[in-house]
Amino acid sequence: MTNKFFSDEHIVTHLGDEYDRFHGAVVPPIYQNSLFVFKDFDQLAEAMKDEQNSYLYWRGTNPTVQIVEQKIAALEKGEKCKLFSSGMAAISSAILTFLKAGDHVLSISNIYGPTTKFFTYAEKFGITHTNTLQTDLDTIESLIQPNTKVIYLESPTTMTFKLVDLKAISDLAKQRGIKTIIDNTWATPIFQNPITLGIDIVVHSVSKYLGGHSDLVGGALITSKEIMDHLFYHEYQLLGGVMPPYEAWLLMRGLRTLPLRMKAHQESGMKIATFLENHPSVKKVNYPGLKSSPDYELGTKQLKGYAGLLSFELANNSFESVRKVINSLKQFQIGVSWGGFESLVISPNYGYNKEQLVASGMDPGLIRLSVGLENADELMEDLNMALQVQSQTV
Ligand code: PLP
Repeated sequence: MTNKFFSDEHIVTHLGDEYDRFHGAVVPPIYQNSLFVFKDFDQLAEAMKDEQNSYLYWRGTNPTVQIVEQKIAALEKGEKCKLFSSGMAAISSAILTFLKAGDHVLSISNIYGPTTKFFTYAEKFGITHTNTLQTDLDTIESLIQPNTKVIYLESPTTMTFKLVDLKAISDLAKQRGIKTIIDNTWATPIFQNPITLGIDIVVHSVSKYLGGHSDLVGGALITSKEIMDHLFYHEYQLLGGVMPPYEAWLLMRGLRTLPLRMKAHQESGMKIATFLENHPSVKKVNYPGLKSSPDYELGTKQLKGYAGLLSFELANNSFESVRKVINSLKQFQIGVSWGGFESLVISPNYGYNKEQLVASGMDPGLIRLSVGLENADELMEDLNMALQVQSQTV
């Protein structure tokens, strides 16, 4: 059903909406029913032959959820998508689908924290794990073990926003019969399509940009028909972390404006990154869209744009400085998560974990901004004010 040649704008506004099927409704309805009934037992028996493509039960296939799955598969240029109840449900299902006791996973540092915790959790099932701060191809190659079955990536990485070479790593993995998974939440399918670079599974927390309105939690997993044919009957249906239809409907509504919102996030993100880069209280800005970024060149090869999530490091990197800046900001709300309409600020430095941060390659003066859809000039004024307060009082 996926047509690689539709534009992103067409996919989000029309693909799968099928007006004739829903009495001309311009917005498809929410199928808020747990099960479907059949005319006779023969019809049910027929549907049971292909649960993936039949409407039987909520924990399988639901028409509202299915429309959104079709849109996201098309945006990611993948054959199939399934939606999950959270990003972590999609991530854990993707990882488990390729692993059994005795297998090894290689992942990079500074990915989403709970994903790394999941690898540690999986040790109790006999799965081992290596984490690497260095992500150049030689290091990745040297860390592959005879039992490595999965390489797990995020590009850019969480908090530090470093890129990894997706094509080079997926080529290497293919030569060794290793599967690759990437968390593509930052770039969204508007700015990066890892499947076209050879990655096997793409996962998203749709709680971020894809939903975009900070009113839902969900996950997406996009892959080939072959992988999904297995995953649907196992990790999807048996672990059971599936997306409810109301959340899918909210997600469909969010997706309508995804290309427009990403353009706005990119424009404001770039303005703010440039502003911070030139600010005397700032030592470094982590944003692959800046020409000064060591990853800029690689970014031009695999990214089509840059999202609005970035971090910067204070010249004075004490916890007191970090605290002062965050508490002085008025336009940026203090909160976890990101990718919504509202600007948010956070730091991984809580005042009691400096050694842990340094060990994982993070500067204690690191502050993360999720640049929302407010006026960028007002956001910059706010940052300027907070940086001034910090430099005068700390
Ligand atoms: N991936 C990234 C990069 C995230 O930032 C998050 C959540 O913050 C997740 C995955 C997990 O998603 P969820 O909270 O929807 O389970």
